[in-house]
Amino acid sequence: MKAIRKLLTLFIFIAIAGTLYLYFRDTSGPDIQLTPQAGFLRHDSPLQLQLQDQSSQLKSVQVVLHQGEQQISLLKKDYPEGTTVALEDIILDPLLQDGPLTIEILARDRAYYHFGEGNQSSALFTFTRDCRPPMISVLSTAHNLNQGGAGLITYRLSEPVTRSGIEIGNHFFPGFQQSSGDYVCLFAFPYDVPADSVPRLVATDEAGNRGLGGFYYHLNRRAFRRDRIGISDGFLNTKMPQFQHLYPQATTPLEIFLKVNRELRPQNRARLQEIGLQTAPSIRWDSSFLRQPNAANRAQFGDVRSYEYQGKKIDEQTHLGIDLASTAQAPVPASNEGAVVFAGFMGIYGNCVMLDHGLGLQTLYAHLSRIDVAMDDLVQRGQIIGTTGATGMAGGDHLHFGVIISGVPVNPVEWWDRNWLQNNILSKLDELNQR
Ligand SMILES: [Zn+2]
Repeated sequence: MKAIRKLLTLFIFIAIAGTLYLYFRDTSGPDIQLTPQAGFLRHDSPLQLQLQDQSSQLKSVQVVLHQGEQQISLLKKDYPEGTTVALEDIILDPLLQDGPLTIEILARDRAYYHFGEGNQSSALFTFTRDCRPPMISVLSTAHNLNQGGAGLITYRLSEPVTRSGIEIGNHFFPGFQQSSGDYVCLFAFPYDVPADSVPRLVATDEAGNRGLGGFYYHLNRRAFRRDRIGISDGFLNTKMPQFQHLYPQATTPLEIFLKVNRELRPQNRARLQEIGLQTAPSIRWDSSFLRQPNAANRAQFGDVRSYEYQGKKIDEQTHLGIDLASTAQAPVPASNEGAVVFAGFMGIYGNCVMLDHGLGLQTLYAHLSRIDVAMDDLVQRGQIIGTTGATGMAGGDHLHFGVIISGVPVNPVEWWDRNWLQNNILSKLDELNQR
């Protein structure tokens, strides 16, 4: 008898323990995750809900949107037994208004807790709905552009943006907000963009709405010169050894030359693009850019160069600066006030210095024999930053001078021209400051 009672007690104990275990095994509701979980939304912004309950199973979900007094049910769903994970796309009601809104999510599992009701978890997510693109008001009036040259546009935006500026071809030129609140965008009509391309002023807000601003402009087309450059064995044997380490597979100086021209050149251009991002949001200078004194122009901006070796054309590249030659190792003045954003060796440019003048505008001084400045130095207009040389891809001692806007080379001649600078750049900045 005693043994039977003992067994019975044990049995009851196990039954109670088992029930308690099942009851208390899972006392927390499903895990709720919403992506994104905050920020700005447009009517078509995707929202994804992920529910998960590993210990029990999912039973149901309810998604309710609150905006002001309004409550809208976005989703109500029961899950079949055995569901442990669910992914739901939440679609916003297109009739909502712009402004703040809250999304409330209630999810239930199939646990025994709460007398079989299961566990409920809830989560609140707050967003701002914004379906209106930024309005762009163009402030500057005349935009006279030369193919391969620069232009400046000033504008006002109706709301904060994440990105604004000029798009043309595959290029983007960012605008910079000034202390007045208005924006300035310095841009190029790039030499490599067809003359019938249209520059577009764009602005994208935090929700991703994109606004377009119209503006008048006039483009002066320009035919670029063609130039033939004979490549001699003397040049190859003198200049190519400095690049040999980059192309150890190349067996002849000519092979190195072609690698440098076709592979290193675009890499160096990409580097200019990167350096172009290191720019001040405003300018500190108000005078024209200096040209190296007493130096002859040896090559123009935009010259299309055919490289010939033993009477045959072996390559073609566009020359994207101006070559200035005077005496060997001539001092090189900074063309305007700026900050040193590069000082060192850069492939085809050899030893070079780049100065930042703000708004994406930078100048490049290449093939130097000596560099007299260091990274982050602030230099004055006319300050000597180095001496000319023939480092990199240079046949003889000269200065390759380049003007670059947000990584895109433009014709330097405009920047040396006091009238052009006054009419196209400085007067527009003055107008903006007087507003
Ligand atoms: Zn050059």
